[in-house]
Amino acid sequence: GEHKVSNFLRQIIENDLDKGTYQSRRWAGSPGDAAHHAQGEPDPAKIRTRFPPEPNGYLHVGHAKSICLNFGLARDYGGVCHMRFDDTNPEKEDTEYVNSILDAVKWLGFNWEAHGQNHLYQASDYFDFMYRAAEYLVEAGHAYVDEQTTEQMRLNRGDFSKPGVDSPFRGRTPAENLKRFREMRDGLHEDGSMVLRARIDMASPNINLRDPAIYRIRRATHHNTGDTWCIYPMYTYAHPIEDALEQITHSFCTLEFEDQRPFYDWLLERLCEGGLLKNPPPRQYEFARLNLTYVITSKRKLAQLVYDHKVNGWDDPRMPTIVGLRRRGYTPESIQLFAERIGVTKSDSWIDYSTLEGCLREDLENKAHRGMAVLDPVKLVLTNWGEVFGSDGYTEDCTQPALPHSAIAEGQTPPPDRVFKIGKEVWIEREDFEEAPPKGYKRLFPGNVVRLKGGYVIECTGVGAKDANGQVTEVHAKVIPDTKSGTPGADSVKAKAAITWVSAADGVQAEVRLYDRLFLDAHPDAGGKDFIEALNPNSLKVVTAYVEPSLAAAKPDEKFQFERHGYFVADRKDHVAGKPVFNRVTGLKDSWGK
Ligand code: ATP
Ligand code: MG
Ligand code: MG
Repeated sequence: GEHKVSNFLRQIIENDLDKGTYQSRRWAGSPGDAAHHAQGEPDPAKIRTRFPPEPNGYLHVGHAKSICLNFGLARDYGGVCHMRFDDTNPEKEDTEYVNSILDAVKWLGFNWEAHGQNHLYQASDYFDFMYRAAEYLVEAGHAYVDEQTTEQMRLNRGDFSKPGVDSPFRGRTPAENLKRFREMRDGLHEDGSMVLRARIDMASPNINLRDPAIYRIRRATHHNTGDTWCIYPMYTYAHPIEDALEQITHSFCTLEFEDQRPFYDWLLERLCEGGLLKNPPPRQYEFARLNLTYVITSKRKLAQLVYDHKVNGWDDPRMPTIVGLRRRGYTPESIQLFAERIGVTKSDSWIDYSTLEGCLREDLENKAHRGMAVLDPVKLVLTNWGEVFGSDGYTEDCTQPALPHSAIAEGQTPPPDRVFKIGKEVWIEREDFEEAPPKGYKRLFPGNVVRLKGGYVIECTGVGAKDANGQVTEVHAKVIPDTKSGTPGADSVKAKAAITWVSAADGVQAEVRLYDRLFLDAHPDAGGKDFIEALNPNSLKVVTAYVEPSLAAAKPDEKFQFERHGYFVADRKDHVAGKPVFNRVTGLKDSWGK
C-alpha cells in the first residue's frame, strides 16, 4: 500500500497496541447490537473509532477530514469505525440528513461493516441507559437537581477570574434528588424549570467542571423516540456514554472539545466505579479542525447560503459540502489524498485551497481522458478547402490519444484513440486570433502559420467578418496540404504554435459552467465578519461552448481534461446525451495566488 506519514494519533494507537491497553476487552454488546456478539467474547476489533455527526445538515469538507481520519485509522490498524448519529438534540434533526450523511461516507469510500456486523448506531437508542446512569449518579451523590433560574445558574457559575458559588439546591439528599429527577422524567415540571447537574467542583479552574448540566426538560418530538421522553441528555454527558457503550477505544474530536475532556474522564470513571461500564474506558484525543481558505465550514452558515438562495442548493458545485464537491467533479480519491496530505496536528491553522485542487489534479492527471473544447468560440473558415480537397463539404477524420503516453502505466493498454472530423469550418478560441498581434504573440494573425492540433497546419489570411460592434465573427486561413498530424509531411512546414479547435462538422454545442471561488475573502467568516458581504458576484459564468464528439458522448459524472482549459465533469444532474452540460472543476495550474 501507499506510504502513510506518521502523526501523533498514529503514535497513540501504536503505543496502545504495543502495551495491549485494550487487549483484555471482552465484547459486552452495545444496546444497538447486543444480539451479534456473545457477551464475554474477545473483541474482534483491535481498535474502535467512530464518526459521530449530528444529523442536522449536510456534511462538508471538514467532516471529510474527520471521516478519512476515523475510518482510515481503523482500517490501518485492524479496527472498526462506527458510523453513529449523535441525535440527542430533538429539535434540529431530520432523516433527510441521515440519508445524505450515509451516502457521503460511502461515496468517500468507507463502510461501517466489519466482522459480520453493521456498525451503524444512533445515540438515541441509548436513552434508556443514559437515564439509568443518571439515576445512578444521583443515588451515589454525584448529581443533583438544580432549580435555580438559567440566569442564576449562569451568574453562580463564575468565570475565569473567580470561582463559582454553590447552588442552594446542591446540598439535597440523594433521595430528594431522585424523587425530583423522576418527576422531571414524568413530565411534572415545566421546560427550563430545573436541570440535573453533575456535582463536581464549583471552584474548578475548568469552568466545564463547575457542576455541568447533564439533563434538561424539553418537550419536543424526537425523530427516533417520538414523545417517549420529555427530558434529554446534554451532548457532553451523552457523548462519553455513547463511546463507552460501543466500546470505542480512541475517541477523536476537534480541539474545541479539549476543555471537555476532564468531564469525559470524570463521568466514565464514575460509571465504571458504579459497575455500569467496564474498564478500560475510551479516551478522547483532540486534533485541529480543518480550516480551508475561501471556504466556510459551518453547517449553520452553509444553510444560510442555501436558504437565502445565494447558491442553488446544498449540492451547488460551489458549496464545500460533500455533495457539492462531488457535483463539482471532485473524486473520493482526491479528497482522501487531501486528508492524508494535510495530516493531523494539535494546533489550528489554515490550509490553502490550492492544496485541495492540487490533489484533484494529481488524481485526474493520469485518469481523465483528454478532449478539445472551445469555450469562447469564433468561426475559422479555411477558404481554400474546396480547392485542395475537391469539395467544400469534404471532411476527414483526425485521431488523437485519449491519454498522453506519460499517463499509461507499464503493461497497461492505452484507451482507444479519439476520432473527430476536420472540415472547411472549425471553431477556435476568440483569444487565439489577433488582428494586430502584441509582441511575441504566436497564434493566429494575418500571415502567421499555426497547427490545428491533431489536424493540419494553416496560414492565417485575416479577418473574414465583423459584427456591428467591430467584434470579429469570422477568421480566414488557408489549409496547407500534406501537413496533417501523424502523416509523413507533418513536419514539412514549421508551425509557430498549435491551437485547440473543434470542427463545425461534428462539434457539439455544450453548456459549460465556469465556477470560480464563492468568496473573495480568504477568511470569509473570520473575526465575526459578515460572510455574505464576501460573496464573489462572479462565482459562476455560463458559456456556450463547442466540444468534440468524445466529450459530447460523456456519461454523467465523467471527468475530462479539456486541453489547455483544465478539468471538467459532465454534470451529475443536468448532463444528458445530446445536450451536454459540463462543470469546470479546476484549471490546469494553480491560479489562487493571482
Ligand atoms: P458544524 O460546526 O459545521 O455544524 P459540527 O462539528 O457541529 O459541524 P458534527 O455533525 O457534530 O458537526 O460533526 C461530526 C464530526 O465531524 C465531529 O467529530 C466533528 O469534530 C467533525 N468535524 C466537524 N467539522 C470539522 C472540521 N472543520 N474539521 C475536522 N473535523 C470536523
Ligand atoms: Mg456538532
Ligand atoms: Mg460545530
